[in-house]
Parts: sequence; structure tokens; C-alpha cells
Amino acid sequence: MNILRRILDFILPASCSYCNDSVGDSPIPYFCSTCWADFDLIYGPVCPCCGRPFESPEALSHSPEHECSPCRLSPPIFDQALSVGYFEGPLREAIHQFKYRPCRSLGRPLGEWMVNNVRLLTDIDVVIPIPLHTKRLRQRGFNQALLLAHAMSTASSIPLSWDNLVRVRPTRPQVELTGEERIKNVAGAFAVRRLNEITAKRVMLVDDVFTTGATMNECAAVLKDAGAAQVVAFTLARAL
Ligand SMILES: [Zn+2]
Ligand SMILES: [Zn+2]
Repeated sequence: MNILRRILDFILPASCSYCNDSVGDSPIPYFCSTCWADFDLIYGPVCPCCGRPFESPEALSHSPEHECSPCRLSPPIFDQALSVGYFEGPLREAIHQFKYRPCRSLGRPLGEWMVNNVRLLTDIDVVIPIPLHTKRLRQRGFNQALLLAHAMSTASSIPLSWDNLVRVRPTRPQVELTGEERIKNVAGAFAVRRLNEITAKRVMLVDDVFTTGATMNECAAVLKDAGAAQVVAFTLARAL
């Protein structure tokens, strides 16, 4: 495969999907090494519940458990949400290429980036990707959340469960909808097949992008109904 890529690059030099410069000898498909190193990490104070970055660095200095006002007004069903980077710039482009091109070969480097830039949670029993409906899976050919969850599971040695949480009806892409519509769109869309595998378990749900958290919240509700002790919503990137 490498030889084939070298021949192709020689005939038609590949350009970076983000900056259009030559990808050179970058090991990442469709991205130059400079753009890949330029993903915008989330650091600084965030809401301990939903992971929303606080504008003021002082936000948590006096009360580390201080939650953002949306979480105080309407507490999410998941226990905690964490994202690694901001859904902006080259990371946004990489996720877009990964999902919609679709470019499955970006799954591994994105998964590795996710793992390399996060403190892995030790008190988790099982990693579960947000499932696609079979119709969408057939169109895309792979579930992007499963590829990321697999990377998390491999790096942490936490077992992966890929077929227990299922999407029981097709839904519209959340990206087309507003906040309220997103909640309705995913209501009742998920189910757990084998409840006994969830009872009393601490679950890490994995997806690519966290926007309003509607999908994560709906899956967390189904998992909590199935007896999950804790649900952590983990994503590659957070949209603001
Ligand atoms: Zn570039
Ligand atoms: Zn919050």
C-alpha cells in the first residue's frame, strides 16, 4: 500500500485537505504534519458535568464543583462529558473527511490522537460507541464512533462492547437540526439488547463530536434504565 501511495504521490502530489500544501512525507492520509499537529486542545476550566469550557479561568478557583448554568437548570442524565479538542480548524476538517468523504483510514490516527491527549479514566468497566442505524451503516460502510471506541479500548485495555447498544430506528442527521429538534429526533431511538451486561457497570460512551449532548443524553438514559451505575460521555471534539 505504501509503494502504491508513493507512486501515486509521484504522479499526482497529494495536497493537505486543510491548507492545500503538499502532504510531503506525512504519515497521515490527506493531512500535512503541520496541520495535524495544530489541533486545538481543550485545556483550562470546564464544567465538571458537561465539559463546557468556562470563559473565565477563575470559574473553578473557589468552587471546583461549580457547574455551568444549563447543567444547574437541567442536569444531564450522563454523569460527565469530556472532549479532547475544539471542533474547529484542522480537527474539524479531519472529522469531516473521516465521516463524510468518507475516509476510514483517518480513524486510526484520530483515535491515536484522542488517546494520546487524554488522561484515560481508570474506573470504567466498558467502552461503548454511539451506534449507527443499519441503514446509515450500509451507506457509510463503517461506524466512526466504533473506530474511535476501539482505539480507546485498545489503549486502556477496557473491554469494548460494540453490539449491545443499538439504534432501533433511523434518525435525521443531528447536524441539520436545532437544539429542541435534536432531542425529539433521538427520543426512543436507542435500546440495550442484553441488560445483564450493563447492570452496575461504569460505561464510557464514545462519539466523534459533542454539540448539544442530545444523543449522548438519550443513550445515557437507556443505559441508566438498563442499570448502568455511571455513564461518561467521551468525544473527540466539542462544538461551541
Ligand atoms: Zn496542511
Ligand atoms: Zn455543564
